[in-house]
Amino acid sequence: MTPQVPFSDVRVEPDDLDAVAATLRSGWLTMGPRAMEFERVFADYLGCRHAVVVSSCTTALHLAYIACGVGPGDEVIVPSYTFVATASAVVHAGGTPVFADIVGVDDLGIDPEHVERLITPRTRAVAAVHFGGYPAAVDVLAELCDRHGLALIEDVAHAPGATLGGRKAGTFGRAGAFSFFSNKVLLAGEGGLLATDDDEVAAVARSLRSHGMTSGTWERHIARTDTYDVTGLGFNYRLDEPRAALLLSRFRRLGDEIERRRGRVREYRRRLAGVSQISFPYRDEDLANSSAYVMPMLVDRAEDRDDVRRALSERHGVQTSIFYPPVHRFSAYRARFPGASLPRTEDVARREITIPLYSHMTDDEQDQVIAAIHEVMT
Ligand SMILES: *Cc1c(COP(=O)(O)O)cnc(C)c1O
Repeated sequence: MTPQVPFSDVRVEPDDLDAVAATLRSGWLTMGPRAMEFERVFADYLGCRHAVVVSSCTTALHLAYIACGVGPGDEVIVPSYTFVATASAVVHAGGTPVFADIVGVDDLGIDPEHVERLITPRTRAVAAVHFGGYPAAVDVLAELCDRHGLALIEDVAHAPGATLGGRKAGTFGRAGAFSFFSNKVLLAGEGGLLATDDDEVAAVARSLRSHGMTSGTWERHIARTDTYDVTGLGFNYRLDEPRAALLLSRFRRLGDEIERRRGRVREYRRRLAGVSQISFPYRDEDLANSSAYVMPMLVDRAEDRDDVRRALSERHGVQTSIFYPPVHRFSAYRARFPGASLPRTEDVARREITIPLYSHMTDDEQDQVIAAIHEVMT
């Protein structure tokens, strides 16, 4: 039987197990000292003032939109070529997502020119996604947002460690939302983080992640205070200690793992360059700025996509995925927010196949994927 190559895979190291076991033995399981330590480590890494751990990227986005004042009647311009949470968090904040197209087949990020054309007096914020780990044009968007008095929110779920002009993705906007979901570049099963230089945004996020309370369980435990007030309508969006410990442990390998991912992408690009009827977004030189989260491949003909995926899986044991069915085409969004026409998003979304990529992928596994694509496409 052909061995299976998954499109994404998790490896937990002995250090990770030790870190989690020590946390469980400590007896303190909800958000506490390890979460605070991870916030310091990650803020240093990004080079920003505040990092606020939360339960997911979705909840980080929700808090970011709220902290930027998004509410009923407000529009937020978002890409449709993303995971649904970029848009659903706008709806949860009371706002209305307005979908913008991508730049094109070589850059799957949101198109700043289309964003500018979509701005109305009701626009409050713009969200950008660093697709696949490749930085979106957040430098251009930050300038555009400044000019129009809008907040820029970065969905950095794919891109811890990505850079633009030497500066980390997630630090260009008013807030950046990171994900530690189990198939991401830095993972803990579930988890997220809001990064910001804005003291006010950080204060809102810290308060609302824990019910709008003026002190947390850990602060009361270490007796800084024994009572609290509730100053806003909050949530339980906390991260727990075992996950914070896992993140601290895994963070030490992040740089090496991103380098390995880049090596795999470089190899794919080199050895698949001549294959007919497929192409790859982005350029070789973009890789140095990318966290190399996923490897998107475009087949020339949309009508071939399902057959290619089936052949890779059934004949060669190569699992693939699709990043992403566009949000504006989902039934819930078509019905509520009709009228979006995004030709470049729709074209790419019909032709995209995500091929296997993970940091501990072996040479044999990658050879198997490359041989399979050569065979299927010729
Ligand atoms: C995974 C992902 C999210 C959601 O992250 P969670 O941590 O699972 O909430 C949001 N946006 C994008 C682009 C993602 O890929």
